[in-house]
Amino acid sequence: MSKIDFDLPEAKKTFWHTSSHILAQAVKRLYPEAKLAIGPAIDSGFYYDFDLEKPFSPEDLEAIEKEMAKITKENLKLRRFTLPRDEAQKLMQEKNEPYKLELIGDIAEGEEISFYEQGEFVDLCAGPHLDYASSVKAFKLTGATGAYWRGSEKNKMLTRVYGISYPDRASLEKHLADLEEAKKRDHNKLGRELEYFTTVDYIGQGLPIMMPKGAKVLQILQRFVEDEEEKRGYMLTKTPFMAKNDLYRISGHWDHYRDGMFILGDEKDEDVLALRPMTCPFQFQVYLSKMRSYRDLPMRFNETAYLFRNEASGEMHGLIRMRQFTLSEGHIACRADQLEAEFAGCLDLAKFMLKTLGLDGEVSYRFSKWDENNKEKYIGSAEEWERVQGKMRGILDGLSIDYYEADGEAAFYGPKLDIQIKNVHGKEDTLITLQIDFQLASRFGMEYVDSDGSKKHPYVIHRSSIGCYERTLALLIEKYAGALPAWLSPTQVKILPIGSAQHDYAYALRDKMQSLGIRAETDDRNEKIGYKIREAQTDKVPYMLVVGDKEVEAGTVSVRSRKKGELGAVNSGDFIKELLIEIHSKQI
Ligand SMILES: [Zn+2]
Ligand SMILES: [Zn+2]
Repeated sequence: MSKIDFDLPEAKKTFWHTSSHILAQAVKRLYPEAKLAIGPAIDSGFYYDFDLEKPFSPEDLEAIEKEMAKITKENLKLRRFTLPRDEAQKLMQEKNEPYKLELIGDIAEGEEISFYEQGEFVDLCAGPHLDYASSVKAFKLTGATGAYWRGSEKNKMLTRVYGISYPDRASLEKHLADLEEAKKRDHNKLGRELEYFTTVDYIGQGLPIMMPKGAKVLQILQRFVEDEEEKRGYMLTKTPFMAKNDLYRISGHWDHYRDGMFILGDEKDEDVLALRPMTCPFQFQVYLSKMRSYRDLPMRFNETAYLFRNEASGEMHGLIRMRQFTLSEGHIACRADQLEAEFAGCLDLAKFMLKTLGLDGEVSYRFSKWDENNKEKYIGSAEEWERVQGKMRGILDGLSIDYYEADGEAAFYGPKLDIQIKNVHGKEDTLITLQIDFQLASRFGMEYVDSDGSKKHPYVIHRSSIGCYERTLALLIEKYAGALPAWLSPTQVKILPIGSAQHDYAYALRDKMQSLGIRAETDDRNEKIGYKIREAQTDKVPYMLVVGDKEVEAGTVSVRSRKKGELGAVNSGDFIKELLIEIHSKQI
């Protein structure tokens, strides 16, 4: 098998699935009494489930790996054969494989029952497989856990062994190194270690507490976003966190999104309140507060919105998926002839944000359309959907965006452009969304008087400029492995006096920097300087300024840069000047 083949998803699956047979063969050689369940390929390798007397220890896994290595050197060819049902059952009875017998029972009458054989090992399996076990040149068993047969807790707990394999050693080593690095960078681990956020069982799942450092970064981001939006002609609104169900009935959320909402009481009560899952119907009220003319458009509204979504408990993950989060939300009402330029403006803003944060290299663009086989999930007619999707495609093509299409990913009221980003484990999530909406304006009776005196509905663009603030913080922590650029760092400078003789100098320096808007702190604890330096390093502070008698006398600071290392003695005024340039230009 060539390297290129391995990069194709189907080929990878075949490769990993074949590896699971090698694993099972090794287990049967070492533990003949083990019963085989299933052994599929998964997104990140393969596993095999075994019914055993006792679970495998790490030493057992090592022994199994050794046996697998032996198997791959035996030049075994995988041979497929089929059997009539009764003979297939007889074979599995002889081999004492009750789970395989159960699986044969699941195969529909008339369907082929196929087996694969390599050496002495036979497995019931639909395939496909590699031709030779020896193609699997490098593998690693990555762990073992308990897993119920058929995923049901009513069934027996089996032992699931996970593994990963590659056609060559170097690829495997690289993969394992990447995994280690990903673990270290995972915001859910690193973000807690660095005290950006925490969670508390009795507060609840998906409700993180932002610690002072995390809250500081969110504030920096929020100021950055709101200032930039102001420059681009947005008007800030501040709307309630909740509303009566009447509002959500008009918007369609009550019928199409109720399961995702927190309802504050009995949902059958006439005036029951619900927490908002998005800001749109609230912000529309600003537009609706008086009659609008074609000259008023476009109107661009922004809001830093707290939103609430009742995510399933299994879906929650750190700062990526939560039940309460903060969105840089906004809506634009515009005329048809303004739609393209407004959409382009939203995209430009989103791209500007990503570039400034250094996240622009990792994104892809998804054109999310409705699912025409699932019409009841959406509002509006098929003709309208086709028309607006066509319009949106035209805009995306006109802007030369390199996008891919996804059916069934649209919002219930319109198609979207999703800016997708992968987290450190390779899992993709939506960071920023731009949507064209042709429905809610008419549902809410939003109108404007056109130049000819006629009343028309505006188009509405739902948009975000930085997405969910908490999610952005998570991605920043992972991207920079916790060492955020200076302009985003909760603490930018740590002043480290060697002894108490330099305290006053250190305090004066700190006060001066703080008055200039630099986030500076002094470590005046009675600790050795080496200890203070190590702690500031672990904390990933961009600059440490060590001050001793020499520095006090000369009016300098001894600079240690996180990026550039030891910079030696620098005039304190010069240091401040340089740092202000770095911060204000938002260097990454
Ligand atoms: Zn198989
Ligand atoms: Zn919206």
